[in-house]
Amino acid sequence: MNFDFTNKVASRHKRIMTFAALFASSIMALNPANAGSVNRIDTDGSQIIVSFDDFVESAATFSLLGPDRIAVDIKGGKAGHGGRATGMVKAVRQGQYDINTARIVFDLDRPAIVSSGKFSKDGRSLQLKLQPVGSYAIKNGRKSFLPPLQFRAEPPKQSYSAKVPLGRPKDSVALPKISGPKDSNRPLVVIDAGHGGHDPGAISPHGSQREKNVTLAIAKAIRDRLIAGGRVRVALTRETDKFLVLEERYGIARRLEADLFISIHADAAGNESAHGATVYTLAEVASDREAAKFAARENKSNIINGVNLGGTGKDVSSILIDLTQRETMNVSADFAKLLHREGSRQMTFRKTPHKFGSFVVLKAPDTPSVLLETGYLTNANDVAFLSSRAGRSKIANGVGSAIEAHFARKLAQR
Ligand code: ZN
Repeated sequence: MNFDFTNKVASRHKRIMTFAALFASSIMALNPANAGSVNRIDTDGSQIIVSFDDFVESAATFSLLGPDRIAVDIKGGKAGHGGRATGMVKAVRQGQYDINTARIVFDLDRPAIVSSGKFSKDGRSLQLKLQPVGSYAIKNGRKSFLPPLQFRAEPPKQSYSAKVPLGRPKDSVALPKISGPKDSNRPLVVIDAGHGGHDPGAISPHGSQREKNVTLAIAKAIRDRLIAGGRVRVALTRETDKFLVLEERYGIARRLEADLFISIHADAAGNESAHGATVYTLAEVASDREAAKFAARENKSNIINGVNLGGTGKDVSSILIDLTQRETMNVSADFAKLLHREGSRQMTFRKTPHKFGSFVVLKAPDTPSVLLETGYLTNANDVAFLSSRAGRSKIANGVGSAIEAHFARKLAQR
C-alpha cells in the first residue's frame, strides 16, 4: 500500500482548538501586569541576590535535604531562566509554580538554611544569607519576606485567579528537530522518552537498567523505524539524558502542532512475575487501582524533593478543556486499540492491554496522546527484551505499523 499522507487530518479539531486557545489567552491577559519577572540571580559565597524587573508581592524560602537545596517562592513573580551558581550553590533552576508564583531552586554543596533575608529599598531585589548547618538542623522551616509597602505588587483579585485551561507549554524549552519527509503536510508524531536527567524512573532490581535510558533507546528505535517508513514526520522530546517536566513534554507536541504524541515508559512492580505492555490514555477516573497507582508514580516526575516544577494543579481540568479534549480522548483511545492490535504481533501485552488514568503527560487537550508502558524492569524476560536491540526493533515495528495504520484510517475517513 502506498498512502498519501499529504493532507491535514484534523482541521475541524484544530479550529475548535484555536478558539479555545484564544479564550485561554484572554484569561491569561487578566493576570496582573505588574508581576515582576526574575531577571537576574547572583550567588556569592553564602549570599544569594534575586533581582526582578518589576514589583513582586512577597517571597518565602524553605530548605530541603538530600540532595541539599533551598527553594525560594516569589509571589507575584514570573520565572526567568537559570542563574549564576558559585560558592555553596552548585546549580540554579527556575519554574512557574503556579500562575502567580515563581519558584527558584538552589542546589547546594552542603545542608544550609536561610539565616536572614531582606528586599532592597526599591523592592526590586531580594538578598538572602545562607548558613551551613548540620543536616539534623534542617526542618524545612519556611521564612517569609515582604518588599517595602510602597513597592509591593498587589495580589491579584480573586476573580483573576481564573483556571488556565490549556496547561502551560513553556517556550523556554528549545523545540527539537523534525526528521522524516520535508513536506510539512505530512502528519507529525512526537515520541517522548519518559524520565531523564536526575529522574531515572523505574530501576531494575540490580540497578543494571534505568527506565530513562531504556525509554530513550526505544524512542530512538521508533523514530528510526518511522523515518525508514517515510510516511510521517517525527520528533523526540529529548535525545539526550535530560530532565523535562511533564508539561514541557506535551508542550513540545503542542507547539509543533503534532498530530500524535506517544510517551514511552517501563514500569517496576513488587511482584517480579508482572510482565507485559499496557497502553494508557487519559481519563479523570482511573480504570482500576493499579492504573491509579501507576499514574501517581509517573506524575511524581515533576516533583523534586517536594518541589513541584510542573506547576499545574488539580483545577486545570475545566469545562473549557472538555470542548476539544473529549474528541481528543476518543481519538487517543482508538489509537490505543490499534497500538495493541499491531503491537501484540511483536511483543507481549498484559491481559487488560488498555487502561485509563490521570496522567499529566497526556493532558494536551488538542493532541491525541497515549502512554505506552512497554514492560516491567522487574521481570527478567521483560528487562532482557526491552534492553536488547532485537526487542527495541520489535517494539518499533509494532508502534510504527500502528502509527501508519492510524493515519491511513484518518485519511480514509475524510
Ligand atoms: Zn515512567
